[in-house]
Amino acid sequence: MEHPMVKCSVANCQHWEDGNNCVAETIMIEINAHAGSPLPQGSGSEQYDTKHQDSAGDVTDTCCHTFVERTH
Ligand code: SF4
Repeated sequence: MEHPMVKCSVANCQHWEDGNNCVAETIMIEINAHAGSPLPQGSGSEQYDTKHQDSAGDVTDTCCHTFVERTH
């Protein structure tokens, strides 16, 4: 599957590169209420869930579960 262009302004994420580009292989989006939920598939910072489903109220109710704070 060809990856979509993912633009992100969160410059302190390990997956972020110049031009506001996300270079993660897999991105998991969740509703804010489940931001801390464990993800059963994948590894490292790129874990995901192919079965769990949710419903968001609006754009402010979603978050990127793949974010990892850049340490350098
Ligand atoms: S993993 Fe999420 S927070 Fe990090 S650059 Fe990609 S979209 Fe942004």
